[in-house]
Amino acid sequence: MKINLLGVQVENLDLAGTLEKIAGFIAAQKPRQVVTLNPEMLFYAQQKLALREIINRAHLVTADGVGILWAAKMAGTPLPARVTGIDLVWRLAQRAAGEGWRLFFLGALPGIAIDAAAQLQKHYPKLKVAGTFHGYFKPREESEVVTIIRQARPDILFVALGAPKQEFFIARHLQSLNVPVCIGVGGSFDVIAGRVKRMPSWVQKIHLEWLGRLLQEPKRWPRALVLPRFVWLVLKTYRLA
Ligand code: UDP
Repeated sequence: MKINLLGVQVENLDLAGTLEKIAGFIAAQKPRQVVTLNPEMLFYAQQKLALREIINRAHLVTADGVGILWAAKMAGTPLPARVTGIDLVWRLAQRAAGEGWRLFFLGALPGIAIDAAAQLQKHYPKLKVAGTFHGYFKPREESEVVTIIRQARPDILFVALGAPKQEFFIARHLQSLNVPVCIGVGGSFDVIAGRVKRMPSWVQKIHLEWLGRLLQEPKRWPRALVLPRFVWLVLKTYRLA
């Protein structure tokens, strides 16, 4: 059920399969980490052993974006579909409203997690929000934040601190958080709260959402410079070797 991509295990599931797997985690009631893997993370995981270990210890790693799908194809082990952080937030919120699962939203600038949760509740009025907390707490406040989340007893914790900060946070506190599903979801709250617009669906369809986001948020350029290096690494590993 998994493929190996540049030393990292990625789940061979589409969105529906991923949702089923996550539902299973909630039924099992053991703390689990979910990583939505994008090309930048996979690239940094080559150099940063600690990050690679966290990803490989995670209970579920999804292909966040077309770059990962392309790399999987180059490796001769194609994946069925993208499973992005934002799609997971929406679909899990929908399912949670039906199942009665409680969600906690951690991350983004003050006010945004609340707005994102409210936006989801507007779509799914039965959705239960266990709590929200912004993502700009100080390191010395971290254990307090963990206590707040643990005491709220959510079924799913969305962590939007940006990658790889959110992955390290979850890995560090997985056992004490004691939440069945902890997912790093990057900038999803900003998009859901309406602070950052998602690209129109035709742009998503032609697989250029990443380019649209770059034009919309110029601060992403330094990070984007990793992408050609990622492409070269994939070609070197799977095509030129
Ligand atoms: N963020 C945060 N705390 C921090 C740094 C970042 O809560 O210390 C938030 C930031 O406000 C944004 C998200 O993390 O909402 C990162 O979004 P970005 O799109 O940069 O991350 P990606 O989706 O690429 O992981």
